[in-house]
Amino acid sequence: MRVVFGASSTDLLRQEIASFGLSRVLVISTPGQVDVAMRATAQLDDLVVGVAAEARMHVPIEVVDKVAALSDSTSADGCVAVGGGSTIGLGKALALRGDLTIIAVPTTYSGSEMTPIWGVTEGGEKKTGRDIRVLPRSVIYDPLLSCGLPLSVSVSSGLNAVAHAVEALYAPDASPITTLMADEATRSMAAALPGIAKDAGDISSRSRALYAAWLAGSCLGSTTMSLHHKLCHVLGGTFSLPHSVTHAVVLPHVMAYNLPATPAAAELLQRALGAEAPAEALQSLAARLGLPTSLQELGLREADLDRVVELAAKAPYANPRDVSRHDLRALVDDAWRGVRPRQW
Ligand code: NAD
Repeated sequence: MRVVFGASSTDLLRQEIASFGLSRVLVISTPGQVDVAMRATAQLDDLVVGVAAEARMHVPIEVVDKVAALSDSTSADGCVAVGGGSTIGLGKALALRGDLTIIAVPTTYSGSEMTPIWGVTEGGEKKTGRDIRVLPRSVIYDPLLSCGLPLSVSVSSGLNAVAHAVEALYAPDASPITTLMADEATRSMAAALPGIAKDAGDISSRSRALYAAWLAGSCLGSTTMSLHHKLCHVLGGTFSLPHSVTHAVVLPHVMAYNLPATPAAAELLQRALGAEAPAEALQSLAARLGLPTSLQELGLREADLDRVVELAAKAPYANPRDVSRHDLRALVDDAWRGVRPRQW
């Protein structure tokens, strides 16, 4: 896979498309991002055979069917996905079905473009899997495209990236390389977000955040995630909580629980965030930059907490520390109330 980085790097899209021998591409985005997608692909007029601004959160199967039909009817050989994890997720679902070469142009910090993980929602259930065919062949990171990303999405998406990095640090299959990437991702994102909050169009901060997203996405793609991702999957998949802000709310609580069991990860995060208490530091950063800090604010009902625990405890998953139902209930309760992460 190729990665192209830099302000105005979308100018190189034509070159990237040609390098894969493609001549008929489909452009996809969410409905809200069609202008950004059109701007990014403006120089491709003669190569674009269709535009589908239909991407939606969690990749509903109906959307995949509709866009796959457009791809077939236009004999598309490639797909340029301009947007966040929802758009890139649609591109991946198309690649899984057919033979489309995906070129990703990410505009959030979800990191999906760097992973072979796909997800499709059918009949209210999100199925996920890993398949190398869904990995984009080329990723173009152009910070100019993310300047319009609202502050709240920038911060929550940035913390979604930090969550990939944190869980990569204590993953059972972590390596010295993923640890280096996770360290650099955490430092860079924590330094970038306050700069974005000060000036949304600050290219240096936007570049740094995209760089962190690339590293964190690479960590997500190459290691096994733990309790945090499991919980967020349940909260998003079953209770329809918004993806990135759910990650931002839950992460400090999972860190507070897991870090005492992983001293090397804890020390690294202390250094990367310049804070004695990394979990508190991330929660404070999120609150300072205007994000909600409780699941309650995201619409989760207190009556649903037992069900969250039941679903999260159902299937086994990797974690550096054993998680009893009792502890999990207390952790979820803390996240629901939005209290300071407790000392476990
Ligand atoms: P998203 O793609 O839904 O984008 C969030 C919001 O930001 C949307 O409203 C979108 O229209 C808007 N937006 C995007 N770019 C913008 C821009 N440049 N300017 C203004 N607004 C912009 O959300 P996300 O957090 O990027 O991705 C979440 C989805 O991705 C979830 O479904 C999640 O499961 C999936 N995901 C998958 C992986 C993977 O490896 N497969 C990794 C991370 C996330």
